[in-house]
Amino acid sequence: MRFFNRAGRKSVLMTTETRDMVVVGGGTSGCFAAATAAQKGLDVTLLERKSEDDGGHIACGDAIKGKSTFPDVIDREYLREESFTNENIRRALFMNPRGENYDIPFKGESGAVVDRKRYGEVLLEEAERVGAEVEFNTVVKDVIQNGRVKGIEAIQNGEPITYEADIVIDAAGSLSLLQDKVDFDGTNYDTNVTYQQFCSAYREVIETPEPVEYDDAIVFKPTEELGYLWYFPRTATEINAGLGFQMNKPPMELVSVLKEDLEEQPEFDGAKVKDKLGAALPTRRPYDSAVAPGFMSVGDAAAHVNPTTGGGIPGAAKAGHWAAEVATEAISDGTLDESALWEYNHRVQTDFGKKFAAMDLYNIFGGAHEVDELTNIVTALPGEMLVDLMGKKGAVSLSFTEKIKAAVVTAFETRGHWSTLREAYQVNQLAAELKSIYNDYPTTPDEFDYWEARRDELMQEVYDVTGAEPKY
Ligand SMILES: Cc1cc2nc3c(=O)[nH]c(=O)nc-3n(C[C@H](O)[C@H](O)[C@H](O)COP(=O)(O)OP(=O)(O)OC[C@H]3O[C@@H](n4cnc5c(N)ncnc54)[C@H](O)[C@@H]3O)c2cc1C
Repeated sequence: MRFFNRAGRKSVLMTTETRDMVVVGGGTSGCFAAATAAQKGLDVTLLERKSEDDGGHIACGDAIKGKSTFPDVIDREYLREESFTNENIRRALFMNPRGENYDIPFKGESGAVVDRKRYGEVLLEEAERVGAEVEFNTVVKDVIQNGRVKGIEAIQNGEPITYEADIVIDAAGSLSLLQDKVDFDGTNYDTNVTYQQFCSAYREVIETPEPVEYDDAIVFKPTEELGYLWYFPRTATEINAGLGFQMNKPPMELVSVLKEDLEEQPEFDGAKVKDKLGAALPTRRPYDSAVAPGFMSVGDAAAHVNPTTGGGIPGAAKAGHWAAEVATEAISDGTLDESALWEYNHRVQTDFGKKFAAMDLYNIFGGAHEVDELTNIVTALPGEMLVDLMGKKGAVSLSFTEKIKAAVVTAFETRGHWSTLREAYQVNQLAAELKSIYNDYPTTPDEFDYWEARRDELMQEVYDVTGAEPKY
């Protein structure tokens, strides 16, 4: 097809390609979607706007749970050998600026810190090895739609190109451009998304002159605006240090706050910064629905991130994998409407979706209080009790309910904060209820309105208890 550019001068040849599936974005979610689809025999192309040299260069803290995080559709052992630079993470260390630090030992598999660039390169390599076509230098600009999404329009190596496809997978990361283009009218796709539900984060990779003492730990520190600063050791002398702030709070000077903090830590004396990068990440519940006819969003593009820790790699990997599995079935059945893709929503929401939605309540609770107040409570509680409260993995556990009762009774110093502790106790109960509502996530779109009303009623209770501004 020939067409004229805006200046009306030069005509160029428009290429049109046809595939079963097109995946937009070559991060974790896109690579797992493309690898899964290729393994299932689909003709799939992954489109990434970066050059091949830059592929895999993504702002991240680089911390993951371990090899078991990933679906078994790529060579996980190869990924481990090539990119897991520290497989000896056995604890989370919480630095308390007001007093005692807290150490939370990990149960089971050790955590890992990866060389994120190499990790990303291996995922792209692996997607290609198992049969997906990977095209770099391809900036997707728009979708083609007519009753359903039927493909995308892009600029590839400077030339316009169209890919027609049965399914488009949106793996384009936070605040994905594709979602501004798709007409979601008449679908349940979650469009209740605002930038205040995101966090702005920045990290540096720093080489220290001497090994740090915490090369077996991921280290967290609270920052003034609700958020945290981290040191994650890629090796004993290469540290990923970063921080983030919630975008519903006043902006924070990320670079200078990190710089000030590093200057206070003796281990960073004479250290060299090897890489700097920032990005936005969702700190909200997963999208209520991430499917529309011919279209599925995965990973950051559908907020598949733990909203309290910012950990998004496991959710991205699983979501990409599940979306491709469901899409493969829909394509083979020849039905590409919302109902045919709905099973993907169900898998997400009844798996990590319910956990992340529940964790989000602690964000809402935390956001309604001053960080100073929360730090004072933490400081007032005896160390062992706090470790217990946090659960062994550093996440608030369900048995928190009983434990917080004990804390209220026994921690004399917390008297001044009883009302806040009581609120925390109520929020924790509501989080448990919310999980059970997510267990009932509907199996078809027809029941979605009823489910949503039930969930929103509980959210109203959360806002009433905490006094927080409604987040959704
Ligand atoms: C500073 C920071 C620290 C983090 N730390 C951790 C951590 O320690 N552990 C953890 O588990 N998670 C962490 N996360 C979250 C994690 O990085 C993300 O959740 C995860 O990378 C999401 O993967 P994704 O594939 O969905 O998106 P991304 O990794 O963002 O990939 C999206 C891809 O799409 C491409 N793209 C975007 N738009 C287009 C377009 N129009 N056309 C073509 N290509 C496009 C981008 O170039 C990119 O390659 C962190 C995030 C940040 C920002």
